[in-house]
Amino acid sequence: MSKRIALSDSNISVNLPREINTTNYDVITNFEGKLEKYLGEKKHVVALNSGTSAIHLALILSGVTEGDEVLCQSFTYVATANPILYQKAKPIFIDSELDTWNICPMYLEQAILDRIAKGKKPKAIIIVHLYGMPCKIEEIVAIAKKYQIILIEDAAEALGSTYKEQKCGTFGDFSIFSFNNNKIVSSFGGGALVCNSIEEKEEAIFLATQAKDKSEYYSHSRLGFNYRMSIVSAFIGAEELSYLNDYVSAKIANHQKYASLLDGVKGVSLFKEDDGFMKSNHWLSCILIDFKASKFTNKKLRNQLKNDNIESRLLWKPLHLQPIFKNYAFYGDNVAYNLFKKGLCLPSSTNLTKNDFNRISNSIQNFL
Ligand SMILES: *Cc1c(COP(=O)(O)O)cnc(C)c1O
Repeated sequence: MSKRIALSDSNISVNLPREINTTNYDVITNFEGKLEKYLGEKKHVVALNSGTSAIHLALILSGVTEGDEVLCQSFTYVATANPILYQKAKPIFIDSELDTWNICPMYLEQAILDRIAKGKKPKAIIIVHLYGMPCKIEEIVAIAKKYQIILIEDAAEALGSTYKEQKCGTFGDFSIFSFNNNKIVSSFGGGALVCNSIEEKEEAIFLATQAKDKSEYYSHSRLGFNYRMSIVSAFIGAEELSYLNDYVSAKIANHQKYASLLDGVKGVSLFKEDDGFMKSNHWLSCILIDFKASKFTNKKLRNQLKNDNIESRLLWKPLHLQPIFKNYAFYGDNVAYNLFKKGLCLPSSTNLTKNDFNRISNSIQNFL
């Protein structure tokens, strides 16, 4: 059997230097400093053990507590919304628009007005740059400003993406990244919270390290968490961040190969930037299959690839259709649902070889 081609593996291996030791906290500061340098001087980064914990802390720092409403893009990975429930708050899901597959500004504003009319202004908005594609950020920032609602930017999939040359992960009141193994930069598991002030950063570190009061003994007056990034992860993450540009180039090269492979194939369209001022890191290359024109479904193609030991993945199932979120409000139509029905993510690892791509190409061409 030929080797399995994975959807998106970081596939890095590291030799840890001997001087890494359990008290070497400078390593974490160094990782934070590197990410701050990349994002720009006004940003303050907190290294955490996952992107999920970063979203959780962003919600806490936004003041989200029991019963509050949080507007959230429906078309995303479950980790975007789970922390809303950790806070016993209520997610209100918003549909996507077709240009970027991300949160639709029109439905977002509709939801805000309706929630206010129902007597409660939402506390925060969580937006996502899905598969690395920047959302319609200008419109969304304007809406958040207009209604004075805190904006949390889930840039877990979008490290290296830009909107009008501004980096994704620098637009929100809080932004988050993930350094999980399948993300564009991996720290063998990890995340980061991006804050706009040093005070917020300090509070986030306090909460991420069990909220120990300034006292001679262990005194705790607030609920804390064990969310800090490990020293080993920070060491790997700092090393790996140096290769971000190379990884983005590799992802874009994958995307271009798929563009030539699928050029002229009836009913199949590759997901790409709608506007020249948006630049996706193309974390995952995705396609939509229009059954009427192609005569095959995403699931059929996925099975073909699977038989050839090539991993592909259906798009995220919108969260408002997930059993765990079935009791929460949704504003929109069937935009995200239709994308989910038609879409497929293709293998997009940064170390995809020529030989790997030939196998993918043959598998797809045989199928067609
Ligand atoms: C991966 C991911 C997360 C969560 O990151 P973890 O580090 O796995 O906790 C959150 N949101 C999105 C959109 C993601 O893809």
